[in-house]
Amino acid sequence: MSTVGVLALQGDVREHLVSLAEADVLARPVRRPEELAEVDGLVLPGGESTAISRLLATFELLEPLRARLKEGMPAYGSCAGMILLADRVLDGRPDQHQLGGLDIVVRRNAFGRQVDSFEAEVDFTGLGAVHAVFIRAPWVESAGPDVEVLARVPETADAGEAAGRIVAVRQGNVLATSFHPELTGDGNVHRLFVDMVRAAG
Ligand code: GLN
Repeated sequence: MSTVGVLALQGDVREHLVSLAEADVLARPVRRPEELAEVDGLVLPGGESTAISRLLATFELLEPLRARLKEGMPAYGSCAGMILLADRVLDGRPDQHQLGGLDIVVRRNAFGRQVDSFEAEVDFTGLGAVHAVFIRAPWVESAGPDVEVLARVPETADAGEAAGRIVAVRQGNVLATSFHPELTGDGNVHRLFVDMVRAAG
């Protein structure tokens, strides 16, 4: 059975562990380099990307994690996790570390104050309708040629500036969503990631 870790420095770690266990893998929290070395794939949870970035340095995980991503370890980032995996961040903190691996420009807190949090049904390539919960979420401002766009904010009349924005992407073994499938009990995105981990192993 595959072992999938959840980066457990800050954020909604427990929810991801539950979603992964429901997708039939061994799910383990990862806080130390030795724990990272033992997993076949890693989830980077939602939370606060600046805090997780700082803790990655403190826990000496930054370089080991960058190295594993370079080797092709499958990774899935939700929300703050998407920000950490992006090659470039707009409206980040200047001292915020990027793991990189996803050729996207991501905008932190993109949906703005008025719509701090909202929910929408998004059409997710290969999965169909996914109920998406956005919490101070980023959107993908632009994506490079090797990035597959998997979902966008629906173009409804009230979506305003958010209409059509990219909110789920995949590049090789790296998957990222602006929203939080770990909070809705919809296991499809986690199952997609688990399939990626199995295919890589
Ligand atoms: N705004 C947060 C950040 O910048 C992300 C929010 C979330 O993960 N729900 O990291």
